[in-house]
Amino acid sequence: MTYKEVAHTNSYEFTQGGGYELPTYPFVPPPEIGSATPANHPIVIVGGGITGLTMACSLARLGVKAILIDEDDTVGVKGASSRGICYTQKSLEIFERLGVYEPIAAKGVQWSVGRTYAGTDEVYSFDLRQQGNFHLSEQPPFINIQQFYIEAFLVDRINALGHVELRWRNRLTAFEQDDKSALLSIETPAGSYQVRAEHVIDATGSASPLRKWLNVPFDSKRGDDRWCIADVRFTTRPPQERHTWIEAPFNENRAVWQHLMGDEVWRIDYQMAPNADPAQVSREDVVRERLARQFGKDVQVEIVWVGPYAYRSECVHAMRAGRVFFMGDSAKIVSPFGARGGNTGVADADNLAWKLAAVQRGQAAPALLDSYEDERLEAARENVRVTNRTARFLRPADGIERVYRSAAIALAKRHAFARPLINTGRMAVANPYTRSRACLYRAGSAAGQSVQNVAFRWANGREGRVNQLLDWVGSDLLLLCFGALSKAALARLAGLAGTTPLRVVQVAGAGDAAQAVEHVRDPQGHLRGACQVQTGDWALVRPDGYLAASGHAIDGELVQAIALSLGLTGVHA
Ligand SMILES: Cc1cc2nc3c(=O)[nH]c(=O)nc-3n(C[C@H](O)[C@H](O)[C@H](O)COP(=O)(O)OP(=O)(O)OC[C@H]3O[C@@H](n4cnc5c(N)ncnc54)[C@H](O)[C@@H]3O)c2cc1C
Repeated sequence: MTYKEVAHTNSYEFTQGGGYELPTYPFVPPPEIGSATPANHPIVIVGGGITGLTMACSLARLGVKAILIDEDDTVGVKGASSRGICYTQKSLEIFERLGVYEPIAAKGVQWSVGRTYAGTDEVYSFDLRQQGNFHLSEQPPFINIQQFYIEAFLVDRINALGHVELRWRNRLTAFEQDDKSALLSIETPAGSYQVRAEHVIDATGSASPLRKWLNVPFDSKRGDDRWCIADVRFTTRPPQERHTWIEAPFNENRAVWQHLMGDEVWRIDYQMAPNADPAQVSREDVVRERLARQFGKDVQVEIVWVGPYAYRSECVHAMRAGRVFFMGDSAKIVSPFGARGGNTGVADADNLAWKLAAVQRGQAAPALLDSYEDERLEAARENVRVTNRTARFLRPADGIERVYRSAAIALAKRHAFARPLINTGRMAVANPYTRSRACLYRAGSAAGQSVQNVAFRWANGREGRVNQLLDWVGSDLLLLCFGALSKAALARLAGLAGTTPLRVVQVAGAGDAAQAVEHVRDPQGHLRGACQVQTGDWALVRPDGYLAASGHAIDGELVQAIALSLGLTGVHA
């Protein structure tokens, strides 16, 4: 196998290798070529990476028309193997709603145990299955799978669903917008054309041209940390756990990551010296020597792909510029520690898709779209903060940072209390929204938290899942009423459901008679637990599985919560 010089692909510095054959998609000349007047499209998604494709699939599932353009004709980054490998429970729940979870679960590898070493001492470990916030969902805490597989499954699903047209080898070359529409200039192998759009999704990744053209302000930080991935297949399998070393004796006391993904391919990620030469550290003989130092000189490995990389962190000041919404890496870039890049791109898309659908259908006010920034900018900032912290732990500056790290490692070797100080990556979570204009915050309510895909019983006794309820509501709101309902409450609910995009489900307790049109049972209280409510409460769940509000009586507060969730302000009970 030969390795070429470093390729700059979407701002990550990767060495090209020939490990995987990615699918290619045909270029179909768009009908607009040759037309003097630009065609109108309500939504144009620019970029078909994991974020843009999730957005496209979410819109297609809701029956919303859009086009997606991508300058490439494949998934993943050409010549760069897979970037992402770990997908968190929230993403897996979203993928289930989108209809791509089954192939992901079949191809990927589940894991929940992580162990961290300093030298030969284990200094930290966790089992996510034992943690209350993970164990009730139908989806596991994590699945490891090559990012391009997920993207390819999404492409197939979008094509099957219809509504969204995927246009490969269509490159955005210029952009302008005014209060009437956005105008996009697009280049293809068959010529150029223009389209007008009401809303534009920038999912072009970390080198976003739109961000540059629109002069979007952002914070940026670049360190001198260098890494080199070796994706390999072993003859003898290491344990199926996530192992990380802060100080690996076999890597000059630098950090190492070891993780299994699909096709029995292991990702071994080695921290390099800050001045490492990418070409030298990715030479096959050097990579083999490094692997032999870790696994023994008799280790038998097939090298699938090698990629040295550096990273930077960035975060925009605003998630929207006029008609353009930034999402995924175009909105923020994080170091890979904790798998917070792709996972949050998926969450960005899930957040905006139902809002756009509701606004397009006239079910919600355009102001609802502003809550995208409230929620996903908070998430982006938090993810940048958390991953920067990890990066500083892994490559501390000389002085106090290095002293702190040495002290933390020394303490963790001897005392359990110090183990949480070890930071080789805080794994991605469903970010809570604590200051969204679309949520109603009240003491005791878990508004802004994600509701897990837990089990309940349908009226006929069969097991159901939260995702099935969300499938049923589409882009409507879901109101769960726990326990018995008074006649007055039922009449008020019927009125609300008749005038707003709201579906009401009574969650009957063991002794409650079923009263509402739709009712389910929650014998184990999982649904109540997931919404963090008591019997007698209601919970307003959004199409993205987030809790908008919860409360006790069917009164003005519920009316206000519905109004906020639909972007309506100034509504009185
Ligand atoms: C080593 C490494 C490990 C990682 N591990 C993980 C992990 O385990 N889990 C995780 O969640 N994340 C991980 N990440 C991060 C993850 O890979 C990124 O966050 C993710 O790829 C971002 O997806 P995106 O769709 O926003 O952007 P991209 O994947 O960069 O996609 C952008 C798309 O836009 C297209 N495009 C660009 N410009 C134009 C244009 N002008 N016109 C048309 N199309 C255009 C491109 O062709 C591309 O398809 C990792 C990253 C690295 C580097």
